[in-house]
Amino acid sequence: MATPSLNDFPKPTSITGGCLCGAIRYKVDFPAEHDFLKASTSCQCTQCRRNTGTLVLFSHAVLSTAVTYLTPTTTLKNFNASPGIQRGFCVECGSFVYWRDESQEEVYMTIGCIDPEYLMGEEGKTEGFGFALVNGSGDNVFCENELKGVREGWVGKTGKRWQKGTSYGVLMP
Ligand SMILES: [Zn+2]
Ligand SMILES: [Zn+2]
Repeated sequence: MATPSLNDFPKPTSITGGCLCGAIRYKVDFPAEHDFLKASTSCQCTQCRRNTGTLVLFSHAVLSTAVTYLTPTTTLKNFNASPGIQRGFCVECGSFVYWRDESQEEVYMTIGCIDPEYLMGEEGKTEGFGFALVNGSGDNVFCENELKGVREGWVGKTGKRWQKGTSYGVLMP
């Protein structure tokens, strides 16, 4: 598969999303210089698996200043499975909305909470931006946890494949 270029796919100027019960709704406004390739990331660590109940967490990194909450955030709580790493979730419905490293400017919005009209498009209304949001061209971490025979070919084909976190510094082929 050829490495995609930023000009190859439609990109949104903004997206909305929210938790499963709707108590938390947000909007993300992308700055003109937003790199939709670098920002598309995945994680296969056991914490993310337990948090989502799925094999792979796909997320899209944006500056925290680009996120506006459209609802009160009274049901939004942070859980720290590791020191300094926040996992934002809704206490009503359990949706995992974002994760962030408290020492960094970025917040990683979980792909599953982005509204489907942005992910898949809506007939006659909006084109989907799924590839812009989930292309796997950024950091794909904890690839050592891939389930052999299941995960090959999905994550990190065009991006860097990190064995553990990026700070651990080990790339996988
Ligand atoms: Zn909720
Ligand atoms: Zn993880």
